[in-house]
Amino acid sequence: MIGPGQAIGILGGGQLGRMLAHAAQDLGYRVHVYEPSGPSPAGAVADRETRAPYDDLAALEAFARSVDIVTYEFENIPAEALEAVEGVVSLHPASRVLRICQNRWREKAWLRANGFPHAAYAEALEGDIETAAGLVGLPCVVKTADFGYDGKGQMRIASADDLARAAAIFRGRRCVVEQWVDFEREISVICARTHSGETRPFPAAENLHANHVLDVSIVPARIAPSVEAEARGLAVRIADALGVVGLVAVEMFLTRGGGLVVNELAPRPHNSGHWSIDGGETSQFEQHVRAVCGLPLGPPGARNPTVMVNILGDAWKWRDGSVAGEPDWSAVLAEPRAKLHLYGKPQPRPGRKMGHFTVQGADVGGSLALAMELKATLAHRG
Ligand code: ADP
Ligand code: MG
Repeated sequence: MIGPGQAIGILGGGQLGRMLAHAAQDLGYRVHVYEPSGPSPAGAVADRETRAPYDDLAALEAFARSVDIVTYEFENIPAEALEAVEGVVSLHPASRVLRICQNRWREKAWLRANGFPHAAYAEALEGDIETAAGLVGLPCVVKTADFGYDGKGQMRIASADDLARAAAIFRGRRCVVEQWVDFEREISVICARTHSGETRPFPAAENLHANHVLDVSIVPARIAPSVEAEARGLAVRIADALGVVGLVAVEMFLTRGGGLVVNELAPRPHNSGHWSIDGGETSQFEQHVRAVCGLPLGPPGARNPTVMVNILGDAWKWRDGSVAGEPDWSAVLAEPRAKLHLYGKPQPRPGRKMGHFTVQGADVGGSLALAMELKATLAHRG
């Protein structure tokens, strides 16, 4: 067990690392963040920050020697960097787990090999999108195998014209081409798993996306209890099959036929779990710390129905491509049922995740309506 008072290293300095650092510090841990491009949201709150690139193996080893355990908040960390850390101190989730989840080829192949439901897909070597799309049929979506997030490196293909454009855009890149799922809802379940194999899933979150980026998460998800149970069970089986120590977030589609299809996996805290900071018995960040450090897991339930709304850089006031003012926070700040979280990023950009707010209430419908009203007050007035 790594106990309070010891030091946790976090690879990656983004908002997930910041909220993870907060949770670790609340439990009495010291936090050391490793981030190539400082100053970072997590570095700003950590006890210590190392600013060095992921290929600086000497800096990584010094970082690893300075802490008692290392985890990460970011998936696109090169394998060599993780192995350098693992050679010095324990890393959770293990590099073996991240290797599967950080690349869509390996992730899909792993789902297939382990019998988990996924959308039909084909690998497009060297960007041969036409052949792959021919195998899965239209409509479909092309995704780069590496370095995709928040819908980056993705394109939906519905026609021969789209196909020709995609073939030009993705030429020479390793991709997967995936059947477009005509889903009824998107949900996710985040599951914690300990060293001894105990698992504890959070309630399913219902996720609404805008332009392929998470916009709103709703807990409890508006799904039948049988689907909720099935989704949690699926996340537990995936956590077990991966042998993950820490959290794994499982994004899923609920199809119109009522079945669940796994979209992607993330072995870390997840944007759709931010509701748990304000609305959960235990936040996902605290649960991650508990799991990787070998503490008992906390109860994963929701104390109240909670709606989380992402705040992107688009909410800032923009003029001629430059920031001309902050969003108007007054309505969110004045609302007793709302809580505002900002990540301290100095440079807003359209599409960039700058913060989120939650609304809690007695019922999901009322919380969602209030959340949408508050969201409208943030919209920039150019
Ligand atoms: P990212 O790494 O950017 O989160 P995802 O694969 O999760 O990539 O895709 C982002 C979003 O795009 C999904 O949450 C979903 O809304 C939509 N999407 C992705 N793949 C599909 C698909 N096969 N069918 C329908 N919608 C999809
Ligand atoms: Mg996703």
